[in-house]
Amino acid sequence: LHMDINHFRWINESFGQDAGSQLLRDIANRLEDQLDPQLCLPLARLGSDEFVAAFADIDAPGLARHARTLQRNMLEPFEVFDQQVFVSMNLGGALFPQHAATAEGLLKVAELALHRGKERSPGEYRLYRPSTVHLPAHEMIALERDLHRALNEDGLRLMLQPIVTADSQPNARVTLAGVEALVRIEHPERGVLSPDTFIPVAEASGLILPLGAWVMEQGLAWLADATRQGLDTQTIAFNVSAREIHAGGLVERLADGLERHDLAAQRIILEVTENVMLERDSVVRETFDALRALGCKLAIDDFGTGFSSLSYLQHLPFDIVKIDRCFVGEVHTAPRQAALVAAMIEMGHALGLSVTVEGIELHEQASRCLASGADHLQGYYFCRPLPAAEALARFITL
Ligand code: C2E
Ligand code: CA
Ligand code: CA
Ligand code: CA
Repeated sequence: LHMDINHFRWINESFGQDAGSQLLRDIANRLEDQLDPQLCLPLARLGSDEFVAAFADIDAPGLARHARTLQRNMLEPFEVFDQQVFVSMNLGGALFPQHAATAEGLLKVAELALHRGKERSPGEYRLYRPSTVHLPAHEMIALERDLHRALNEDGLRLMLQPIVTADSQPNARVTLAGVEALVRIEHPERGVLSPDTFIPVAEASGLILPLGAWVMEQGLAWLADATRQGLDTQTIAFNVSAREIHAGGLVERLADGLERHDLAAQRIILEVTENVMLERDSVVRETFDALRALGCKLAIDDFGTGFSSLSYLQHLPFDIVKIDRCFVGEVHTAPRQAALVAAMIEMGHALGLSVTVEGIELHEQASRCLASGADHLQGYYFCRPLPAAEALARFITL
């Protein structure tokens, strides 16, 4: 059972390090009180605010019962400087040997379950479900190793995909509006690895932080270079994971990069998925405000596929909504899908947002979305993601 205390950074910042450490000791004591030493190894602490408990002879319902007990036990407030502080935690569980055959693997998949839960709702317990990742533990460990190697040995590749504008006239000229940065791993034996496989592992392991920093640095360097060479691209969009926002430092890193590459913040778009909004967390709000204050734009990525309610649209400062490609496949043949896309575009506009439609693979899909008022389009029909070096030459002729 892997446990992670939520918002601990906030407690440290508000009350100071000493109070934070004391609180962690109190939390650990309270957790330990609930653990039967006959059934459970001593509680282990990981990182600053994470704990692991290992139980003998336990099944899935048994683990869920323990998780509930531990969680319930957190409901009573803790005392910090005579103030009552409420603490919530997320838990992830994994079973030996069903989910992983080694201690290392077990820790890994429990952590993954925890982070999946955390993305959806704070204060939740989740049992690892292999089907949601399609990866056995030994493959995840291998992927994490690949990621480490790619980071240290020049194995990451930056790809860029154009985002275009056009008006809805037939054969209207397509113009480049901006690019999206997409990362790949170039594996010495297995060839190019897709981010859909390694990004979840990067998020669970924390390697998303150096990875995100690498992508941002390369992307900014590319934009500066492209601008010097006369490419008329306005913006570059970066994908940002929840974990990167919660880790802090994103805004400072971006500001520093912009200054070094002499780029205006107005040319930067940060894309986050709806799941980032689930943790009703001041860190998200503050980061968004700071990014806006810097001059960057914010985009909601994969719109319509997440689990959050639309209420965040009222009070979070977005500029762009990107309609997920799952809404686009039949947009030119299925009237219901066309109606849905048209309604999403209209809603975006009513809220003052610019609307991008992703996953355009066919001319008819492009025309339909343009006719419904889409501001920008992205997809294989216009161009696949290209290696940074090729992108420049190719985009000039787009
Ligand atoms: P995304 O942000 O939704 O990125 C768009 C994905 O759709 C890209 O897949 C792109 O290649 C693909 N795509 C573009 N046009 C079409 C099309 O017409 N048809 C189809 N079927 N697909 C199209 P990719 O590059 O494999 O990236 C997958 C996901 O990985 C991204 O989805 C994003 O969530 C994540 N990702 C990629 N790079 C990064 C990164 O640097 N940081 C983070 N945090 N996530 C990243
Ligand atoms: Ca935490
Ligand atoms: Ca994206
Ligand atoms: Ca997307």
